[in-house]
Amino acid sequence: MGQPFTNNSFEDKKIECLQAEISLLQQNIKHLEQQLSEIQQSCRHVFKESYVMRKCVKCHFAESKYY
Ligand SMILES: [Zn+2]
Repeated sequence: MGQPFTNNSFEDKKIECLQAEISLLQQNIKHLEQQLSEIQQSCRHVFKESYVMRKCVKCHFAESKYY
């Protein structure tokens, strides 16, 4: 009594589709992070300080006050 596997093709396609979309979004994230980092690198930061970190009000670049 073998289980029929013929019905799995829809799921297969769906999974392939999701994986393709994930990899597309990951590329998109990389691209956006790149853009953000370029903006932050060229920003003349205006920091707003808190107890543990300071954050630029213009580009939201944040760094810890303790290294
Ligand atoms: Zn900045």
